[in-house]
Amino acid sequence: MQTQACQALDRAHHLHPFTDFKALGEEGCRVITHAEGVYIHDSEGHRILDGMAGLWCVNLGYGRRELVEAAAAQMAELPYYNTFFKTTHPPVARLAEKLCDLAPDHVNHVFFTGSGSEANDTVLRMVRRYWALQGKPEKQWVIGRENGYHGSTVAGMSLGGMAPMHDQGGPCVPGITHVRQPYWFGEGRDQSPEAFGRACAAALEERILELGEDNVAAFIAEPVQGAGGAIMPPASYWPAVKAVLAKYDILLVADEVICGFGRLGAWFGSQHFGLEPDLMPIAKGLSSGYLPIGGVLVGDRVADTLIEAGGEFFHGFTYSGHPTCAAVALKNLELLEAEGIVERVRDDLGPYLAERWAELGDHPLVGEARSLGLMGALELVDPATGERFDKALSAGNLCRDICFTTGLVMRSVGDTMIISPPLVITRDEIDELVRLARQALDETAHRLVD
Ligand code: PLP
Repeated sequence: MQTQACQALDRAHHLHPFTDFKALGEEGCRVITHAEGVYIHDSEGHRILDGMAGLWCVNLGYGRRELVEAAAAQMAELPYYNTFFKTTHPPVARLAEKLCDLAPDHVNHVFFTGSGSEANDTVLRMVRRYWALQGKPEKQWVIGRENGYHGSTVAGMSLGGMAPMHDQGGPCVPGITHVRQPYWFGEGRDQSPEAFGRACAAALEERILELGEDNVAAFIAEPVQGAGGAIMPPASYWPAVKAVLAKYDILLVADEVICGFGRLGAWFGSQHFGLEPDLMPIAKGLSSGYLPIGGVLVGDRVADTLIEAGGEFFHGFTYSGHPTCAAVALKNLELLEAEGIVERVRDDLGPYLAERWAELGDHPLVGEARSLGLMGALELVDPATGERFDKALSAGNLCRDICFTTGLVMRSVGDTMIISPPLVITRDEIDELVRLARQALDETAHRLVD
């Protein structure tokens, strides 16, 4: 299909997610046609290094025949059947076993969903049912973080702390509140990172006491806040938060939708930070994005209570444990494991990216360059003052658009530029990514002066 014909159909009928419909109608879309390895290709012949692995999900890279074959074989055998009424099927049973094998020792069960948002809806219902079964129905409050992202359904956006999402579409789910994020560059530079990490944990404790120390069910957070701006917490943060949660007997929900499946150089971000979460929502890298699938890994404490109590859990989705999605996810995990990709991120690619990415810190437009595993961020600042830009300039969006034309997908969250490339990226491709990022920064600086 011709570029313009595709754009015209799209403009006429397609409402895109997280998009200004009017502006997109005026500007039109880039048409992506195919992809291989770490590169996507558009209809005009451009090859673009996908520094975001799609939406943080194509961990195994594009074009893996093994995943295509796993889907085709499963579709021929049993394309769909539900898991509601005392039925199961081999791919979902095998995937459940594999996930529990990879997860921390205290995690031995999984509830499947179709997406990360559905996983977080499941979390909210499971947490509240857990405390009701424990005879503590007063434990109702769930605490999330400002600027956290847990999905786009009503429960997902309520757990998340993105103010513009709360402002649209009616009231949020009641009984959810948000505390400050451990975003040192944005909010804590008047103290050392370590002092700031402890202050964020202290703010959590303060909120717990305000709500009533017996009334809080769970705290939900991403090990590293992804969509909020690749926010790596100071080293003091998670140990201090863990201590607060233990003191008041509050469940920890670690949202692994981005951090899971190797992104930080461990199977789960929780393992990198030494967390033992009660619940771990997963999606994205679970299937490397080849098919939609998500779930909640459930620790023994919660799972044993739900199982032993008996009585139906009135919750589930048509596509909970979809056989074809499960077969692809299982093959994806097998390939990540067989090819030693998680270890390579930990021992080689993560440290290499850290070294090369840090070099961008010398650019006049960059206030901080940080990375962990294969996730990185650049904080754009005004070269004249070294301070953050006036929001109206939209330096981040400008840089993102320039990046695309230089041949790199880099995402902007305000004036924070983010990368999260496929985990199969090579050292040479990391060099190319850093070179393209620098080129885009140069051009952005140039245009901002003009
Ligand atoms: N949780 C986190 C941490 C995410 O980053 C996302 C999506 O970006 C979600 C949940 C929602 O997942 P989905 O878009 O599959 O519903």
